[in-house]
Amino acid sequence: MIKRSFFTLTQPRLNYDLVEPDPKEPTSIPIPTDLILLLNEPIDSTKDTLIKKGNKVEKGEKLYLYADSTEYTISPVAGTISSLDVYSDNLGNRSTSLVIKSNQAQSDSITYDLKETIASADEYLRTLPGAPPLERLASDDNEINTLVITCGDTDLLSTTNQYVALKFLNDIKKGVQVLKTITTATKVYVTVPENSPLQGGLEPLQVFKTSMAYPSNLPAMVLKNHLNLVLPAGKTPEDMGVCFIAAEAVVSLAKAYQTKSAGFEKIVTIIDKQGNQHRAKATIGTPLRNIFNAFSIQVSEQDRIIIGGPMKGFATFTLEHPVQPDMDMVMIQDREDIPEISDTPCINCGKCLQTCPVNIPVNILVRYLEAAQYEEAADKYDLEACIECGLCAYVCTARIPIFQYIQLGKHELFKLRADA
Ligand code: SF4
Ligand code: SF4
Repeated sequence: MIKRSFFTLTQPRLNYDLVEPDPKEPTSIPIPTDLILLLNEPIDSTKDTLIKKGNKVEKGEKLYLYADSTEYTISPVAGTISSLDVYSDNLGNRSTSLVIKSNQAQSDSITYDLKETIASADEYLRTLPGAPPLERLASDDNEINTLVITCGDTDLLSTTNQYVALKFLNDIKKGVQVLKTITTATKVYVTVPENSPLQGGLEPLQVFKTSMAYPSNLPAMVLKNHLNLVLPAGKTPEDMGVCFIAAEAVVSLAKAYQTKSAGFEKIVTIIDKQGNQHRAKATIGTPLRNIFNAFSIQVSEQDRIIIGGPMKGFATFTLEHPVQPDMDMVMIQDREDIPEISDTPCINCGKCLQTCPVNIPVNILVRYLEAAQYEEAADKYDLEACIECGLCAYVCTARIPIFQYIQLGKHELFKLRADA
């Protein structure tokens, strides 16, 4: 289950990348014949599904697995359901994948009875490009009083959010107005990387200039450096009344409220095997194979595809993995550049301790995680205080995949507690 470290001989830089001052249009990927949608609910063999093979769907139609489902997805095309299958993510969570065969003649997206309330936005717009956190905003669990719109990217090498912020500044302002109307938030801040070509134009919003040094754009770091709030172990920003929203999600919300319909075109940063950056505009559900083909990126057996970025991403081994609402970046590593598996135990070099921004005793924590002692890891060695920056894995002399151990550890801890 544990995957190897993503770090290679050509290690990533530890400063965020900047978008070009005058970026060209992204490469538009044609709508594929078969689109794959992931629905965050597993198939229950004892129940009859609402979605069935052969069903016709409209562009913009909400799709539920069961009559009592709360999870939904939205079809980005008019077409026909051609399959329904079990899907497992990198942590073993089970959900459902749907394949939709797209019609040749595409119609306009259906319009919604979209009202200016968070419940209505959550009812129709969860799967917009940028993945607006509408479910969290609509939840009664936390009262959100502060929104932070992030015009920077959370992982290295990605420029997706910076690109969207630079190109659609007016839509960000419109989206902020929508958010102010539909949420309880009274304060809205915007983060912009300090050297970004996006300078000015966001007034009267208060702008936080974030450092170019990784991991300054991660929510826990923004809370600490700009809002003077320390994220307690095991808590989320929402627990503190703060919700982070990607610039792309804000732009998508603005457009959705203008048209009363959902958008489906996701901007994705692509890093090829040579480290060159490309930018694609692809319909949600497009298999990665189509994007690689558009950039003439050859993918060979045992090459590795990393979704999300070099520090926080996860590996997929299938070219059919679809573009998702929150997929800002995809990179591909040549099999020759993937380091050999290291069985070397921790040599106590202390580098992880020096680099951890929240002072976790990583060298001891990793021993408990390797031994699957998750409760001890949390109780004694601050597993839940980890902000998942991945820096410890980056510097590890023994090349232990610490970050993957941490993610798995948190996941298993969550399941243990849910079972208890
Ligand atoms: S990923 Fe590693 S370096 Fe980053 S906060 Fe967690 S333990 Fe510390
Ligand atoms: S960096 Fe790796 S080898 Fe060094 S102390 Fe940390 S876990 Fe051990």
